[in-house]
Amino acid sequence: MKARAAALDDADPLAALRDRFALPAGVVYLDGNSLGALPRHVPDRVASAVQTEWGEHLITAWNRDGWVDLPVRTGERIAALIGAAPGTVRVTDSTSVNLFKVLSAALSLKGNRVTVVSDSGNFPTDLYVAHGLERAHPGVTLKVVAPEAVAVAVDEGVDVLMLTEVDYRTGRRHDMAALTARAHERGALVIWDLAHSAGALAVDLEGVRADFAVGCGYKFLNGGPGAPAFYYIAERHQAAVDPLLAGWFGHAAPFAFETAFRPAEGADRLRVGTPPVLSMVALDAALDIFDGLDMGAVQAKGRALTDFFIACVDPFAAELGLELASPRDPAARGSHVSLRHEQAYPVMQALIAAGVIGDMRAPDILRFGFAPLYVGFSDVLSAAGTLETILRQESWDRPEFHARKVVT
Ligand SMILES: *Cc1c(COP(=O)(O)O)cnc(C)c1O
Repeated sequence: MKARAAALDDADPLAALRDRFALPAGVVYLDGNSLGALPRHVPDRVASAVQTEWGEHLITAWNRDGWVDLPVRTGERIAALIGAAPGTVRVTDSTSVNLFKVLSAALSLKGNRVTVVSDSGNFPTDLYVAHGLERAHPGVTLKVVAPEAVAVAVDEGVDVLMLTEVDYRTGRRHDMAALTARAHERGALVIWDLAHSAGALAVDLEGVRADFAVGCGYKFLNGGPGAPAFYYIAERHQAAVDPLLAGWFGHAAPFAFETAFRPAEGADRLRVGTPPVLSMVALDAALDIFDGLDMGAVQAKGRALTDFFIACVDPFAAELGLELASPRDPAARGSHVSLRHEQAYPVMQALIAAGVIGDMRAPDILRFGFAPLYVGFSDVLSAAGTLETILRQESWDRPEFHARKVVT
C-alpha cells in the first residue's frame, strides 16, 4: 500500500497545490468538507483589508477598494466553478438564509398550492428553513421522503424539489441531471444545495438546467470560518422573482434611499444587507487557488482519494467494527467517506489527538473529508493506519475521549 500511495502521489497533477495551504506539521487534515484549510496568502490579504483599506481608507474603501462589488465579483468566480452562467451567482449571507430566499422565490413562482419535496438525508437547516416557510404559507406542503424514494415522490407530484447533492452524513450523491430532468417533466422547479459539492465536484448548473442553488463558502471553497455563502438563480427566473426577504442591497438603487422596494436587475435582487467585507475578502482571496483549475480533475482526484481510503480500510473494517456508510461506487458519492462505528465519538476524539482530524456525525458516523487540493494519498494511508491502531489497541476508550464537546 505504501508503494501504491507514493505512486499515486507522484502521478497526481494537483499535488503541487498543497504547498499553497498552511497545514500544520504532523496533522492529516480530513475535515475540509466542514472547514476548508487556510491558503497561505489569505492572512496578508485580510491584514491589508484591515490595516490599509479599513484603517487608512476608511469609508472611501467601499468604492476605492471595490468592497461594494465583492458579492458580485466573488459570485462570478464561484459561478465559473459550478457551471453557472455569468450574472447568476452572488455571494452573501449564510447558506441557510440563501436557502430561505431561493425557496421563497420558488414558492412565489408556483402559486397558492405548492408541494415541496425534500429528503431525510438533507442537512437539518435545509429542512428547518422549509418547515418555516411551510408554517408561513397555508398552501405549502413539505413532503420529506427517504433519499432513495425521491424519484418516486417526484412522479407522485411535486412543485418544488429541494435537495442537497451530497449527503452530509453518508456522502451519497444524487444524480442532479436525472432528478432535475424528471422534476422538470412534471413542471416542477428544482433547488440544489451544493454545500458539499462546490470546490470538490464538477457541477454543471446550466447543463442540468437547475432553477436555483445555494452553497457554502467555508467548506471546499476554503473561505474561512463563517465565510459567506452563495446563491444561484437561473437567468430565466430572475425578472419574475419578487424577493420576500427584501433589503436595500437588493434594491435597484440602494443609494437612492427610496421608501418603496424596487428589485435590482438580475440576480442582485436576492441580496439583502451590507456584505461582511472582511470575510468576503478572505473568500475572494481563497478562490485564487481555483483560478485555471479544471474541476473535472479536482473531482477525479476526490474519487481517487476516497477510493484509496476505502481500499486501505477494507482489510480491517469488519473485524474492528467498522461499516462503510458511503456508496462504494465513486460516481455515487462526493468527496468524503463515512464509516459507522458504535463508539464513533471517542474514536474520532482519539484520532484527532493522534493528528488525524475528521469529524463525527451523530449517532455513529466517523466522517473523513478528502479535499482534493491539499490531501495526498500518503495522508490517506497514514490516516487509515492510525484508525486501525486506535481500534486494535482500544486506545479510544479513555475518559477524556468520551467527554462531549459542543462541536462534534
Ligand atoms: C454545511 C451545510 C449548511 C450550512 O448552512 P449555514 O447556514 O452556512 O450554517 C447548509 N446546508 C448543507 C447541506 C450543509 O452541508
